Amino acid sequence: MKQKLINFLATFEKENIEKSFPLNYCLPVYHCVSDENLPHLSHIIKYKNVRQFENDLDYFSRYFQFVNWDEFKDFFKGNFKVKKKIALLTFDDGFREFYDVVAPILERKGIYAINFINPAFINNKDLMFRSKESLIIDKIRNSGTTNNNIKIEEVSKINYRNKSQLDQIAEELEIDFSLYLKKQKPYLDFDQLKNLTARGFGISAHSWDHPLYWELALEEQLENTIKSLNYIKENNFLADSFAFPFTDFGVKNDFFESLFKNEPLSYSFGCAGIKVDSFSKNLQRIPMETGGSASQTLRSEIGYFKLKKLLNKNTIIRK
Ligand SMILES: [Zn+2]
Repeated sequence: MKQKLINFLATFEKENIEKSFPLNYCLPVYHCVSDENLPHLSHIIKYKNVRQFENDLDYFSRYFQFVNWDEFKDFFKGNFKVKKKIALLTFDDGFREFYDVVAPILERKGIYAINFINPAFINNKDLMFRSKESLIIDKIRNSGTTNNNIKIEEVSKINYRNKSQLDQIAEELEIDFSLYLKKQKPYLDFDQLKNLTARGFGISAHSWDHPLYWELALEEQLENTIKSLNYIKENNFLADSFAFPFTDFGVKNDFFESLFKNEPLSYSFGCAGIKVDSFSKNLQRIPMETGGSASQTLRSEIGYFKLKKLLNKNTIIRK
């Protein structure tokens, strides 16, 4: 519904993004870039191919100045002067393509990015439950058999809480997640994380194992977050930021207050599009894998922001 509305609103937005973009910072978020079919992602994320991703970057560069993490923080302190509005490029989930595909493109273009990772999956120790869903859906679609009683709609409904059901279904369908992890290597390994850090990229926290936060009690939210931040600290990665897995929708003020009091965080990140947050250090990013180009996505988001502003609804209020 939201997507249809914002696509409609995009048709009214002109191309002078420089002026019409309502915030002085832009935070795009991606997961993966690949020219290949990746069964663990293809049914859950509309990731872009190399050409589409490079087009996005060129589009952003026309209207924004890409900054690194220190420049980003300095900008908010008033210590970094820019001619254009700033953009900080972010990736979530620590997929291997960040090393193989994305980093070389970014180095060629001189663009910094942070990748927010889940330590539970690094070194391909496990697959995030949504990727297991994607693999199961892939198998059902491609098996051509109509006589199995597992429905795609039912698989898509399985959540973090009852994710063990996915392992049972996989067994029934003879899908071997361990073998897939071993062969495909969906995630970055530790040496790649170190290598990326040495090349100047940021590696930061995205929770331990990617739960949906509003399903968790406050203590569980904090535990999952702090466990991931401890991993980041112990390995000297970027320890003063955190990006919520899935969404920060429903996460309350007491979580933010406790987290920012106990951890040396500069900012946390959601992905609700162009929005302001009542917890001012929680910044919202723009999901870039919704099927359109950067131009279409930004124009849609700007249109949606304007509409929300009229309705006084463009700030997320935490209670
Ligand atoms: Zn994620």
